[in-house]
Formats: sequence, C-alpha cells, structure tokens
Amino acid sequence: MQPSRLAAVLGFLGAFIGSFLPWVTVGVFSVAGTDGDGGITLALALVGGLVIGLSRSPAASIVAGLIALAVVGVASYDAVNISNKANAANTIVQLHASIGAGLVLVLVSSIMASFASFAHAGAQGKSRPIQEFACSECSFTVRSDARYCPNCGVEFSPPQVRRYRRVE
Ligand SMILES: [Zn+2]
Repeated sequence: MQPSRLAAVLGFLGAFIGSFLPWVTVGVFSVAGTDGDGGITLALALVGGLVIGLSRSPAASIVAGLIALAVVGVASYDAVNISNKANAANTIVQLHASIGAGLVLVLVSSIMASFASFAHAGAQGKSRPIQEFACSECSFTVRSDARYCPNCGVEFSPPQVRRYRRVE
C-alpha cells in the first residue's frame, strides 16, 4: 500500500476509534462521542476509510479528503461547543469540564486523513495511466503491460527480445 493511502486509512481508523472514546470529561465523569455527534463522525470515518482504501482514481481520493474535512468540521464544532458550554456553566463545571481524549483523537486523525487523502489524489494524478493498445494480430484491445493477447494468445515481446521468426 502506498504511504499516502496508508496514512489516510490510519487517519480514518483513528477517527473511527476516537468516536467511541470520551469526548467530554467532567471531573470523573465522561461522555462518549457516540452519545452525541460521535455517531456522525463514526459513519463518516467508516465511509471515508472505505473510499480511500478502494480508491483507484484521484477523484475518489478527493472525495475521501472531503469526507475527512467533514469529520474535522463536526469535531471542531463540538470542541468549540463543549468549551462554550463549560464557560457558560457554573464555576464548578467550568473548572472540571474539558475536551476528552476521544474528541482530540478524532480531530487529529481526521486532519491527517484529509491531508493524506489529498496527497494520495496528487500522487494518483501524477502516475502514468495504463495505456491500451490494439493487438496487431486480432485488433483486440489489450493493456500495455500484457504479455499475451487475451483474445488470440499471441505473445507480445519487445523487439530486442526476439528478432527472429520461425522458418515455416
Ligand atoms: Zn490478439
């Protein structure tokens, strides 16, 4: 697996795991992400991970990057929201309410997933597309890396390999 794809998959995995972990900690109590918007980030991370894991085109990788950005958006919104609520609450809660490890993990992981997905889209764009040729024997369309024609079975070989023909 290419490094950019691997980094993106790990990012989505981190966001997925982080969705289950505490997003808010108030003293000894904590609220898991899945009790709130964690359900959204969980689903997005799952879809994003599948999209980048199976991506065969730059467009698909860009879609994965946008999904990761959506996770960043939801997690950022919640982080700000938790801070605001903690500030508005009484001083005891204010002192003890804090952003949980799960939300931090979701934020960091989704940022990584978005960067890696866009980087992967760039790498895919640069790589040479697979070219197709017509078989000189039967005109069947074959990939440039084919060694034999899948239709008529003729062998394709570079001219330096075989410069002779069998005597009929
Ligand atoms: Zn052929």
